[in-house]
Order: sequence, then C-alpha cells, then structure tokens
Amino acid sequence: MMEKIITCTVCPQGCRMTVTGEELHVSGVTGNKCPRGAEYAQSEFVCPVRTATSSVRVEGGVRPLVSVRSSRPIPAARMAELVELLRGIRLEAPVAMHQVVFENLWNSGVGVVTTAEVAKRRSPQTTGC
Ligand code: SF4
Repeated sequence: MMEKIITCTVCPQGCRMTVTGEELHVSGVTGNKCPRGAEYAQSEFVCPVRTATSSVRVEGGVRPLVSVRSSRPIPAARMAELVELLRGIRLEAPVAMHQVVFENLWNSGVGVVTTAEVAKRRSPQTTGC
C-alpha cells in the first residue's frame, strides 16, 4: 500500500490530502473538504496530468522562440517526450497567436498551439549609393 500527499488545486483553499492506494486503485482519501478534492486526488494518484508549456524555434522572426502550450492537460509522465518533439519543430515567421503546432498529439485529441505572435524580421534595406 502506498501513501501520497497531494495538494488540491481545484479551488484556492488548497487542501492537503493524503491518498492511499496501489497502482491504479485508490483505497482512501483524507484531508479533502469536499468531494471535488477526492476526485482530483484520485486522478492525480492514478495519472497526474499537467498543461504543457514550452517554446519552439522560429526562423526569420524578430525573436528566435515562441511560447506554446497544450490545449488540455497531458500526462505528466509524457512531458519530456513532448519537449523532445518540440525541440525538432521550426516555425517560419510570421507566427500567429494560437497557431497550431500539433493538431492531435499522440492521437489523444490534444493540440499544441502558440501563445504569442512573432513578426517577420525585415531584411536590411540597401542604399543606392
Ligand atoms: S478539497 Fe475542495 S475545498 Fe479543498 S481545495 Fe479541493 S476543491 Fe477546494
């Protein structure tokens, strides 16, 4: 039997909960002040998820990187895998806000979009002398 301390992030009260269980089975949750906390604790125990935030490279832009995030939380265990995928991505400037980087990550229905714009870098003007 394993015990895990989880802080509830569902509301600002931030209850500190103790979850008891084994692998995919939760046998008890204590410390939650409402049922939403118990639900959150169970899903965090079995498969913790996080909204992924990172950045990708931009070619020809006024900035070399643009920030991105997942459209929904993804399993925390796959975060490093996503970062590795994003490392290989190059977007061409101009980059729009909410531009799609991945439409359907791992066939999970989760997308990855940009959270900023990057304008195209102007090429230096030539003088005619
Ligand atoms: S257990 Fe309920 S009261 Fe406590 S932080 Fe979670 S949602 Fe809020």
